[in-house]
Amino acid sequence: MNNRKIIVFTDMDGTLLDHSTYSFSEAEDALELLRKKGVPLVLCSSKSRDEIKVYRKKLSNKEPFISENGGAVFIPEGYDGLKCEFDKIDDGYFVIEIGSKYQMLVDAFEKIKRKTGINIKNIAEFTIDEIVELTGLSREEAFLAQKREYTLPFIIYGGEDDVKILKDEILSFGLNYTEGARFVHLMGGNDKGKAVKILVDIFKENSPEKRITTVGLGDSLNDLPMLEVVDKAFLVKKEAGNYEERIKVEGLVYIDGIGPVGWNKAVLGLFNNN
Ligand SMILES: [Mg+2]
Repeated sequence: MNNRKIIVFTDMDGTLLDHSTYSFSEAEDALELLRKKGVPLVLCSSKSRDEIKVYRKKLSNKEPFISENGGAVFIPEGYDGLKCEFDKIDDGYFVIEIGSKYQMLVDAFEKIKRKTGINIKNIAEFTIDEIVELTGLSREEAFLAQKREYTLPFIIYGGEDDVKILKDEILSFGLNYTEGARFVHLMGGNDKGKAVKILVDIFKENSPEKRITTVGLGDSLNDLPMLEVVDKAFLVKKEAGNYEERIKVEGLVYIDGIGPVGWNKAVLGLFNNN
């Protein structure tokens, strides 16, 4: 039985995973502690469903997860007897869909590109070798990174003016965008905060106590909505040693450590007095 009094929601790239190597070895002590205490660790990433599944296996993680910046919530069928409403059952998961459909985003991307004339390139237009070069992912992971369902990551080749024009155009299409460490993400109404809130409500409805403390850890702007909805929010340092300065949340704890080093410190610190 899980100890659902605490639930930890975490970003992956640059937070639990090292920005360059994608390793979580620096966070092993804290990961082990969460496993020992039965605290659910919910991966909440801009990564695709299939990319996250690889890390769930590596982490022996059997918990629900959130893909593509809150595009969808995946709850393993039969997870702890949990009951909830969902949009479909797929691949052994109850899927709650929040984001827009991928093809609609691709069509909008083409229109925005034509209208603005700005040089932008989405993840489906890169070759596997180019994604490997750009991200440092393995070829297998680069392939899985292209398997999008609810968001469209892309790169802008232009100056600050181009970025502003592009973002205004995206909003005028009724769509939204957020920034991860490497890509800008074109998306609909989803964000990590909405997805976390949906999952927390499900946990609460299924918990006899209904008292749950939620913890969130992130590093980039796309983590802001998640950090706004959790009870305890932690910001780790980015690869360059700085904090994302656009993240401002009441009570935010700035952890002195880059990526997984900071993650380890923050999570171990949660249980210091327990
Ligand atoms: Mg990140």
